[in-house]
Amino acid sequence: MYTLGIDIGSTTSKCIILKDGKDTIASSIVIAGTGTDGPNRAREEVLRNAGLIEKDLRYVIVTGYGRSTYTKADNEISELSCHALGVKHIFPDVRTIIDIGGQDAKVLSLNEKGRMVNFLMNDKCAAGTGRFLDVMAGILQLNINELEIKAAEATNPVKISNTCTVFAESEVISQLAAGVELSDLVAGICSSVASRVASLAKRIGIKEKVCMSGGVARNGGVRNALSKELGVEIIYSPSAQLMGALGAALAAYNKVK
Ligand code: ADP
Repeated sequence: MYTLGIDIGSTTSKCIILKDGKDTIASSIVIAGTGTDGPNRAREEVLRNAGLIEKDLRYVIVTGYGRSTYTKADNEISELSCHALGVKHIFPDVRTIIDIGGQDAKVLSLNEKGRMVNFLMNDKCAAGTGRFLDVMAGILQLNINELEIKAAEATNPVKISNTCTVFAESEVISQLAAGVELSDLVAGICSSVASRVASLAKRIGIKEKVCMSGGVARNGGVRNALSKELGVEIIYSPSAQLMGALGAALAAYNKVK
């Protein structure tokens, strides 16, 4: 039996097809989120990757910021539940999930059964989200996936003192003009995001094991800085950005099994 999970985010649409609630047989990530043709493209791509057609899909669940306007799913579920389900499937011992997406950051506390018992969210300010990194990468003319490589080369990371994205943008431009090393600036930018999210995580209370999910988890510079700030090891899967879609596909399986 095949189930499809679709996670329609603010910046990116993600899909996973699961076979019998266990094996991921295909996935897709399309950098176009809610309000675009991204969800349709991601769906077509995952079906193509799996070698399946629409009628092979037994049940479809949509999650994410854009879920309520998507009409081609059998059901919808909140992204909090989906991230918890997806992460628990891969790392059963996780008790804290830090999910940083394109325009918000969430910290989820799970009990020993993997059920969410508390969460905190920042969706008011771009600092501490992927948006901050996207804006900074744009100024520095780097691709988003180059940030972690640059951050790893830093010898003397710069502290970004402005927390507001708009002011931090001017600060980064002045630092560049002053001849600061690109790698030191990038490390400072990653640390700035980590320190914002760490405050959120400290407010909820950190219980190990701690896992990162969401697209920003792909950035090793942020993962390392967050691990230092919180003083804990942060585990992560290379499919971190797909955790919401995985949770949705699992929920779809649970619905019909
Ligand atoms: P949303 O669900 O809100 O669209 P995602 O969880 O998909 O957000 O995360 C999107 C963010 O992930 C982007 O804003 C970007 O900063 C980051 N990101 C995406 N791809 C990469 C990558 N290859 N390396 C590092 N960061 C990435």
